[in-house]
Amino acid sequence: MFVGHLGAGLLVKRIEPRLNLGVLFVAALFVDILLWMLVLLGAESVGAPQSAGSARFFTFEFPYSHGLVANVLWSALAALAGWFLVAPAASRRTRVAWALGLAVFSHFVLDLIVHVPDLPILGEHSPKLGLSLWRHMPTALALELLLAAGALAVYLHAARLSVWRTILICGTVAVAGILTAAGPYISGAPPPERILALSSLATLIVVTALGFVVEGRVGLTANRRNILGVSQ
Ligand SMILES: [Zn+2]
Repeated sequence: MFVGHLGAGLLVKRIEPRLNLGVLFVAALFVDILLWMLVLLGAESVGAPQSAGSARFFTFEFPYSHGLVANVLWSALAALAGWFLVAPAASRRTRVAWALGLAVFSHFVLDLIVHVPDLPILGEHSPKLGLSLWRHMPTALALELLLAAGALAVYLHAARLSVWRTILICGTVAVAGILTAAGPYISGAPPPERILALSSLATLIVVTALGFVVEGRVGLTANRRNILGVSQ
């Protein structure tokens, strides 16, 4: 899953509009960024692709990035980061903390729906979760694209962006949607794990950077503590 996570970030923006979209993209994609870094370090790994009709999908050994307990921890840490790093107004802090935690945990919930059972509860040898919608790939992709398109519409309605920023976010979501939909239907031998990890990381970095560009800030605004880019 890729563009669906961007959809989650766009929807959390509706809950806490003061958070920078780039920050929300990082939060919603955080455990995938972590996964590919851990793959490069040899701590997590990609399994052989499995086929579903004419599509295929990967399974993973990823207890640190994608375990249930690990995700509760990552979400709590994101909430804590939101609490400590944003502008120090009490009501804002609480809401930002919850929104960041929610954005991070949304990743596990969405992955749970599509993955075959490879999401461990705690550690690689614990029971694994996954509702296997990827076995019905056209349905999985249709729902993911629908989520992203709906979230984009909700975001655009509230954000009132300039024309070029609107084009930029629409283009970003559209390209991410094309990559999401085309990926399972690419045939031939999968690339080596290292190439897969590097190309995936590069894609995630570009997409999250575009989230910051769309909203015209990278944080560090008037308030030096405001490093998450919360609007003033
Ligand atoms: Zn994931």
